[in-house]
Amino acid sequence: MSDMFCFQCEQTVGGKACTGKKGTCGKMADTSNLQDEMTGALVALARAAEGKTLSKEVVHIMMEGMFTAITNVNFNDPVLQELIKRIDTLTASLGGDTAAYPMGDIWGGDEDIRSLKSLILLGLRGMGAYAYHAWVLGYSDDLVNEFFFTGMRAIGSGMDASELLPLVLKTGEVNLKCMELLDTANTSSYGDPVPVEVPLAIEKGPFIVVSGHDLFDLHALLKQTEGKGINIYTHGEMLPAHGYPKLKAFKHLKGNFGTAWQNQQKEFLDMPGAVLFTTNCLMPPKDNYKDRI
Ligand code: SF4
Repeated sequence: MSDMFCFQCEQTVGGKACTGKKGTCGKMADTSNLQDEMTGALVALARAAEGKTLSKEVVHIMMEGMFTAITNVNFNDPVLQELIKRIDTLTASLGGDTAAYPMGDIWGGDEDIRSLKSLILLGLRGMGAYAYHAWVLGYSDDLVNEFFFTGMRAIGSGMDASELLPLVLKTGEVNLKCMELLDTANTSSYGDPVPVEVPLAIEKGPFIVVSGHDLFDLHALLKQTEGKGINIYTHGEMLPAHGYPKLKAFKHLKGNFGTAWQNQQKEFLDMPGAVLFTTNCLMPPKDNYKDRI
């Protein structure tokens, strides 16, 4: 196993970087290196797509790749390997070179360029999660979609600091646009959130706990379990879901279980229910409860 380099979140070791064999979040070096390879493959896809009309398939895989590499989303190496193959297939279908851009050149390169490119990349990854959540609800924005590709070409470019800085600012601007898109998707689908009291008591009977931010997944689960005697509880960042009128209308959305996402490895021990993880709230599951995820 080669060593890793990752400094994308606030848990990073010493406020500098997770290096060596394992990150603070539990991500192993092999997984981190596959995420780098996948990111390099997305640079190749962005290059191949330059000047062409972006198909839904190409936009979707770009969002998927961005989303999958953020903290606490995916620790599954075979899934990453399969994603790299799908990206390469699309790059080849556009007539591009499938050689992945070597992300190590950025991690080990000039510190100013590394910082500016990382601001763009990590901004795009966060935006990928928002855009993906809006996409599953049927909402998309061409400006947001196109900027993923502009940004990834910049990651793989030889641009200097004066050229990268305006793109960093643009990343922030497009992120706001993307948050607006997700807000429209959520409120159009489930109504404008209202203040609500959320019970913390767990009632008798079978139940499923849902974490993350994906309202589409929560809604699908609520429909699937309606009238079946199974209660649903939110966990961590899913708590605000109770405010959306079309979600709180489900009587079996009973309340909130436990506390914040980072307490899951304690709170799910011996919990007599199943867990649906969505978005970026997954920590490496303990043996005690991993067969109930
Ligand atoms: S995502 Fe994981 S490996 Fe990367 S900086 Fe955060 S804690 Fe470290």
